[in-house]
Amino acid sequence: MTYKLPLLQFKEDALEPVISAKTMSFHYGKHTKAYFDNLNKLITESPLNGKSLEEIIINSKGAIFNNASQAWNHIFYFSQFAGDRNNKLGGDLRRAIERDFGSEIGFKERFVTEGVNIFGSGWVWLSSDVEGHLQIDKCQNADNPILNSRIPLLAFDVWEHAYYLDYQNQRAEHLSALWMILNWEIVEKRYKERTIFKDKCF
Ligand code: MN
Repeated sequence: MTYKLPLLQFKEDALEPVISAKTMSFHYGKHTKAYFDNLNKLITESPLNGKSLEEIIINSKGAIFNNASQAWNHIFYFSQFAGDRNNKLGGDLRRAIERDFGSEIGFKERFVTEGVNIFGSGWVWLSSDVEGHLQIDKCQNADNPILNSRIPLLAFDVWEHAYYLDYQNQRAEHLSALWMILNWEIVEKRYKERTIFKDKCF
């Protein structure tokens, strides 16, 4: 089975100036593509060949895990910037964020701080349990809240390849700017559905 890199849902320059077209061309066109290409090479001899990416993530280690999880994480990451960006946090998710983090501003500050505090490469996530209780997860390298049976809602990539061309070493500035291009409706939809990943999502 071939795991196929989904098409980007917007043009490479659509997120400028927060994320430049040059960063997008490398981040999507080179890095993300490489995770899919590597996975396709590695999976051929594995009993996991043909399983969903989520099943591979949960049931593998080493290079197969790293490439499958990075493939999943990046598609999840890019898709939250699609469509109607810069809309407002609302609905049940707003209520849950205010309940669990005090306020929207408090949540955003803490999320960025946790991302800045990840040593080296990784991801900062907002995740939920099935009942809708939220938490921020700091993950190293390719790790993902799915591994802890949590439901990912939002992910900021803190690997340097995500921001170095545009922000050099200013990780906090990059993460803080991402709120301007986030489509909250997509995050709200993920929260509303709260899908425990067992099936194919691509
Ligand atoms: Mn990345």
